[in-house]
Amino acid sequence: MAARLRSVPARSSRGRYKISASMELTSPIEMSDSYPPVVEEVARLAGSPEVRAAFDWFRSQEAQLTQWQMEAARIAAPPFGEAARSAWLAERFRELGLRDVQADEVGNVFGVRPGSGIRSVALSAHIDTVFPATTPLNIRQQGSRLYGPGVADNGAGIAAMLAVAGAIRAARISHTLAVVFIGNVGEEGEGDLRGMRHVFATPRWRDSIAYSVIVDGAGADTVVAEALGSRRFEVIVRGPGGHSWSDFGAPNPIIALARAIQAFSQTPVPSSPKTTFNVGVIRGGTSVNSIPESASMRVDLRSSSMAEIDRLERALRDAVDRAIEAENRAAAGHRTRKPQAVQPEVVMIGNRPAGELAPDARLLQVIGAVDAQLGNTAQVQRASTDANIPLSLGREAIALGGGGSGGGAHTLQEWFDTSGRSLGLRRILLTMLTLAGVAE
Ligand SMILES: [Zn+2]
Repeated sequence: MAARLRSVPARSSRGRYKISASMELTSPIEMSDSYPPVVEEVARLAGSPEVRAAFDWFRSQEAQLTQWQMEAARIAAPPFGEAARSAWLAERFRELGLRDVQADEVGNVFGVRPGSGIRSVALSAHIDTVFPATTPLNIRQQGSRLYGPGVADNGAGIAAMLAVAGAIRAARISHTLAVVFIGNVGEEGEGDLRGMRHVFATPRWRDSIAYSVIVDGAGADTVVAEALGSRRFEVIVRGPGGHSWSDFGAPNPIIALARAIQAFSQTPVPSSPKTTFNVGVIRGGTSVNSIPESASMRVDLRSSSMAEIDRLERALRDAVDRAIEAENRAAAGHRTRKPQAVQPEVVMIGNRPAGELAPDARLLQVIGAVDAQLGNTAQVQRASTDANIPLSLGREAIALGGGGSGGGAHTLQEWFDTSGRSLGLRRILLTMLTLAGVAE
């Protein structure tokens, strides 16, 4: 999971969520006519014998869930190296009786519990980690705590997805819409959401998935309903280089970059929708007495508004062009031996689309009613998750935690505590079943 940028306490009457008034959505969610039936439906489902049996299964099977979680975390799954974990997950899907278990060409793993039509609800968890293949995966358990890289992000999500598949099967719950379980690759870092992007570029899934519930990390206290967009660039400036004394006056890539940074960093950004930029890495040069032949920087642009990201990208490109012109003009003013110029190259190295749930989205009503039913308190958050992809396509999607608690994500000290995990699992199951529909 990428860093959460903002959390907003967001409870209103009857457990419904609204986005805080300080954010882009300035008016509270209107109560829609469909709301009371959702509340009643959630209450009916939560009280039904099958769903209660599924809830009991979560508690009785905690040792199994912990075992799955530790097994998954022990299989290295660096970005672009998820194949072994994909294969392990496909085996679990088969054991749990899912149909049509298959992997696609990028390594996403699918398993289906059929419904009565072609429409479906997707429950997904990313299987990749931020850790390189050489990271020692010392996954261990002490009491209710699990320790080790990836044990919560996304071991908790994988365990929750398997738990929901197991509970629906054990309690013999039949649902109207199909439920598609997806272990997807490429959520973290340079993976750039490639797994979920591929799911929604594939007609079979794109045309059938009505709702997406993404499980990422631990906890039951958040709802990610807004997709923070980001776009990342590497800007490389190349020039003739030379000796600091004898070639003095030749255009200098580091100075050109400095001019670009100076200009770009003046770009105004709105506080709402919150929009940010960062120059995070700068590299280049050979030695203190050499005019560099190249220099580069990495720039990160973020906003919940695609229009703002587009505007920042134009400002960046413009700043680079003007900086190159200025540096070449300055060099032309010197008498160098031959005409020389620096050249820029701007490479996009990351692109995560922004998007958000409409205030009247059914998915927000459902998760609000589920939390009210379970007596759970949660906050609506904006973050960059696999939900960015369906949200940017105008589809309903949210990201939830897999229950329990965790910390130290993206470090070797990562931990997960299984205490209270079943609340998070009940929350996911009830959300899925309400979305999929269960006949009386
Ligand atoms: Zn994650």
